[in-house]
Amino acid sequence: MQVSNRLANITGGGSDGWDVFYRARRLKAEGVPVIELTIGEHDIGTAPAVLDAMHRAARAGHTGYAAVPGVDALRDAVALRITQRTGVPTGRENILITPGGQSALFAAHHAACDEGDTALYCDPYYATYPGTIRAVGARPVALRTRPRDAFQPQAADVDALAADGARSLLINTPNNPTGVVYSRETLEGIAQVCRDRDLWLISDEVYDTQIWEGRHESPRALPGMAERTLVVGSMSKSHAMTGSRLGWIAGPEAAIAHLVNLSTHTTYGVPGYIQDAGLFALLQGSAPEEAVAAPFRRRWAMARRMLAEQSVVGLVPAGGAMYVMLDIRATGLSGEDFANALLDERQIAVMPGESFGQAAAGHVRVAMTVDDEAFATALSQVLEFAGERAR
Ligand code: PMP
Repeated sequence: MQVSNRLANITGGGSDGWDVFYRARRLKAEGVPVIELTIGEHDIGTAPAVLDAMHRAARAGHTGYAAVPGVDALRDAVALRITQRTGVPTGRENILITPGGQSALFAAHHAACDEGDTALYCDPYYATYPGTIRAVGARPVALRTRPRDAFQPQAADVDALAADGARSLLINTPNNPTGVVYSRETLEGIAQVCRDRDLWLISDEVYDTQIWEGRHESPRALPGMAERTLVVGSMSKSHAMTGSRLGWIAGPEAAIAHLVNLSTHTTYGVPGYIQDAGLFALLQGSAPEEAVAAPFRRRWAMARRMLAEQSVVGLVPAGGAMYVMLDIRATGLSGEDFANALLDERQIAVMPGESFGQAAAGHVRVAMTVDDEAFATALSQVLEFAGERAR
């Protein structure tokens, strides 16, 4: 039996550019001591106090079906966090709790797009974006960003694509893979186009606690945007809770009410004991978030110092997220060739820029997800390797 075309085509059928990643995993399984600077997984686990809260909640009986939109106390805590961080009055009715940011991305596109509609997303992009758009039956169209604009999306480009008819634009700041934090000017330009062209803005803010320079701005706070913005949030990155699958959508009340129906017919919500643990974590305020972010802040500063001492590899001007994006075009290699050779010769695995779309060709993404000493050693090897190749 054949599965539906929609399901069969989720990945788009092309090579996903993740060959280096899978090869690194295989080598590691064979016992080769590969240093993996590939995926966005912290080198620390979920805080013991949060795990204790999870255990307490489960033992107290929160193991049955939980409220599908999310338990009231968690929706309130997320709403309060967003109100405090953005100034946009946000209540429980604006929040849907989801199993992680990924399912929030899927649900948000369901809310925005009908079958066959065009959904814009920025290239370079987080790996699941085009597939998530295809999974709801919409058509993904990439908005190319450029190294010369420091990968900030340009309003004129959004407008040119939107002129052909589009229903939504997906942005991500701080950005994966580039680490770029969108400036207020960028966001104002994008918001203007969304208002003019009547687009939904889907704003992926899962890295909002990982800002090393500048300020996180949520476009939902810009004039006229709260009614057309769906914010995707998650506790994966902010609280090192990747495996707990706990995220949310913040948006207009009517859209959230419809999205509750989608949850009823798909996920049926998030386990109660996970929600209680998330609530416990949020009630601790920003200190635990800063503790989770601190190692990446340190490593980013280290990377900046090390990159400044050489001239072959460029650092994309970025001030957030757990990655640094290196411009290796001076080596004459593609990101893919660079990453493959680095893996073979130095046993260091990084992600080719091409894994995230064509806009990041000639770059590699380095996840800062090993301890400080290992990170410094690995990065100096990457730079040495690039220096040899550039000669
Ligand atoms: N958005 C971006 C940009 C991401 O990098 C990730 C995870 N790497 C997600 C969304 C999804 O995260 P989660 O489902 O764990 O919340």
